[in-house]
Amino acid sequence: MMHAIVNDEPGRIAALHRYQILDTPVEGAFDKVTNLIRTLFGVPMSAVSLIDTDRQWFKSLAGLDVSQTPRSEAFCDHAIRQDEPLIITDARDDPRFCDNPLVTGDPGIRSYAGVPLRTPDGYNIGSLCAIDTRARDFAPEQIEILKSLAPIVVEQMELRLLAERDHLSGALTRRAFVAELDKAIALHIRHQRPAALLILDIDHFKQINDTYGHPVGDRVIEAVAKRCAELSRPSDSLGRIGGEEFALLLPETSEADALAAARRFCAAIGAMRIPHDPPLHVTASFGVAAIGLGRMSSQDWLSAADAALYEAKRGGRNRAVLAPLAAECAA
Ligand code: GH3
Ligand code: MG
Ligand code: MG
Repeated sequence: MMHAIVNDEPGRIAALHRYQILDTPVEGAFDKVTNLIRTLFGVPMSAVSLIDTDRQWFKSLAGLDVSQTPRSEAFCDHAIRQDEPLIITDARDDPRFCDNPLVTGDPGIRSYAGVPLRTPDGYNIGSLCAIDTRARDFAPEQIEILKSLAPIVVEQMELRLLAERDHLSGALTRRAFVAELDKAIALHIRHQRPAALLILDIDHFKQINDTYGHPVGDRVIEAVAKRCAELSRPSDSLGRIGGEEFALLLPETSEADALAAARRFCAAIGAMRIPHDPPLHVTASFGVAAIGLGRMSSQDWLSAADAALYEAKRGGRNRAVLAPLAAECAA
């Protein structure tokens, strides 16, 4: 890994702020890492700590219920100033920390192991750490674990930035969804993994807006997205690719299973009663395209599903249509 740039504070702060992560809600991906560290190390606390101008803010803090501390008290602020992990076996014996309020008062920190979170361009924006309330040593293997997990945390921050979500529906933005399609295409090329793409468009949605107004239309979009998310698997990705148009990427799914899934989604959306007076009812049309020949770019894959969606609309809406595979046509 490249050496840290340790004497460019404005650059470091800019690098941190680029992630747009400060003051965002809890996210499972980060908590998984800190909980793992707690288990592996047998420590009561573990944190993903980010060092802002004058505070340390925790993206994840397992074992303690605070969201930030002054930077002046942050152990992690010391960790980011060096290339190597910061290891404190007994904070009471360390002149840098013996009178730190986090040591003398709550939560009574005694020992600490932290590895910098280094951005690809070399800035230490925070640290991943294990914290104990008793004096202790950390085994070299444990430090190696921290060193291995720290880049994963940074990668997660990169991904999260890329995968910005649509505020109304919680689905991935079009750009983030296309990035997921690209990954599925790469997996298909390398390992021949199957995958299928569903595009759905709410039928006659303009009428909802025209009859009940735009805010009610928004609620309908929100409800449809929520239903799709409920029906999909954790490995599926849901994207909002247009105003009232969503897409689902189903990894490891055959064409037949994808069509069956689309029909299930279609029936479930048609069965929804969206709270309103009177309750609202919508349907959606689906286009389904399995990955395959002629669909080796996200654009071509989307076009294939889009053509099938168009057929579903033409055929009377509230239905799913499968895009014929180019390979089958050629055969
Ligand atoms: P079709 O069955 O052919 O899909 O008909 P449609 O009325 O659903 O399709 P059309 O493309 O004519 O209209 C879609 C409407 O969706 C037009 C647009 O104003 C509305 N829309 C797009 N984004 C939003 C949004 O975020 N909120 C709301 N309320 N309406 C939106
Ligand atoms: Mg549309
Ligand atoms: Mg529509």
